[in-house]
Amino acid sequence: MNSLEKHLHEKFKYQSFRFPQKEIIEKTIARESLLALMPTGAGKSLTYQFAATLCQGNEMVLVVSPLIALMQDQTKNALAYGIEATFINSSLSAEQKESRMRQIGEGKYTLVFVAPERFRKPEFWNCLAARRVKLFVVDEAHCISLWGHDFRPDYSKLEGYRSRLGSPPLLALTATATPDVQGDIAKQFGLNLASDLILGGLERPNLSLRVLETYGDSEKNEKLLELILAHANESGIIYFSLIQTLEAAARFLYKNKVHFQKYHGDLPPDQRRRNQNDFISGKVPWILATPAFGLGIDKSNIRAVIHYEIPASIEAYYQEVGRAGRDGLPATGYFLYDEDDLTIQMQFLNWAYPEPEFIEKVYDLIASRADVVSQGGFEYLREQMVFKNKKDFRVNAAVSILTRWGCLEETVTPFGFKAVLAPTPENFKLEDQNVLKKEHQKKLLSLLRYIQNNKECRLQQVYFYFGLKKKEDCGACDVCVSLK
Ligand code: ADP
Ligand code: MG
Repeated sequence: MNSLEKHLHEKFKYQSFRFPQKEIIEKTIARESLLALMPTGAGKSLTYQFAATLCQGNEMVLVVSPLIALMQDQTKNALAYGIEATFINSSLSAEQKESRMRQIGEGKYTLVFVAPERFRKPEFWNCLAARRVKLFVVDEAHCISLWGHDFRPDYSKLEGYRSRLGSPPLLALTATATPDVQGDIAKQFGLNLASDLILGGLERPNLSLRVLETYGDSEKNEKLLELILAHANESGIIYFSLIQTLEAAARFLYKNKVHFQKYHGDLPPDQRRRNQNDFISGKVPWILATPAFGLGIDKSNIRAVIHYEIPASIEAYYQEVGRAGRDGLPATGYFLYDEDDLTIQMQFLNWAYPEPEFIEKVYDLIASRADVVSQGGFEYLREQMVFKNKKDFRVNAAVSILTRWGCLEETVTPFGFKAVLAPTPENFKLEDQNVLKKEHQKKLLSLLRYIQNNKECRLQQVYFYFGLKKKEDCGACDVCVSLK
């Protein structure tokens, strides 16, 4: 047995590598930087966990990840392999952060997870001073690109941070990057795609993708119930764009005695976590969720992902549907499409990119009326900012933009955020809402073309979008089945 396999077996108890884990690990051991694309659930984490088990002396692996909600699970997974792992983010108390950073400085921990905003803190740099970063991992690397579907302005500073750390080898990981986005990642990190790109194949041949046209809410609900019943004793996720729609469907399913949990931003964080755990452990078979649910969720036997409303892009869709069938067994993605849903996405898109003045005003309210806002939360802000339209989400969008910029931090009030830093002209320049909006419109259009194209295999359409080579038709999607 090759020594890498031996190490895999001893430390991780796996029989063999999944493609292309070994190729990635070999490159990182050779101290080469790379971008690796691997589908959701394919095992990206193992590639940096492996590196962490090879650390010697004061070496450590630093993982930058956009979502603090995931870090705890990622840390737990690594700890289970005996890796000394930890995370530092705003969910910790000041004392916890301080003590973890002190320990990092003292040489403890070989695997550390942080959000990109962490590098803004001098204390963090101080604790890194005594350590050698052996591998600089950028998880969800598509977040660096304006053309990615989940842009994070702080990601564009990562290359600068890496060079400040003495330019350790880079491992950029993502499950979804169109050729445009790959090019952008390469450019920003100084990679050469000809030699530094490993394509793990985004192919998911065990997924059958189906678009089901429906007319009106009651027909959609009936269809939903039918699908749930067809998957009796199995597990699935139902995705929504709007909390409102999610709650309405929840009432319908409740009446029909479906056993489920909910996951969305209006639920308190501990409740969200409990609901998520109930689903992961198998205690409840179904979960109704907004897109925030599932990034990095590790549950292999999800048999169905149902889209009740249309997602924002093919990237988002494929990530979400990709949570089904991680065990490699057949799984189905059902896309319930009603023409009217498009209007919702269009409107959503209009609200999602508020003007600079609007963002500034929201910040000022949160900063200057901290007491009222901390109790009254979004409700209060909406009253102050928006007069007519109840469906206007600009306040929510502004809060999430300000959080992304580090202007707000999460905290434990009913509102959940506090003001820490006023937005700067640089923030507005780095993230021009109008540019983002145009990109988003293009992506929505691509998704619409996908929905309407009932001549080509669904999987082939997705593969084409991501620039993958043509494969055999899947034989199982609605198009393949109808052409048989
Ligand atoms: P992602 O690529 O989405 O980040 P994860 O790293 O979370 O995926 O891995 C998904 C699952 O695959 C985990 O449960 C992990 O234990 C499992 N896994 C990873 N590598 C292997 C392997 N070589 N053999 C078997 N299971 C593996
Ligand atoms: Mg992952």
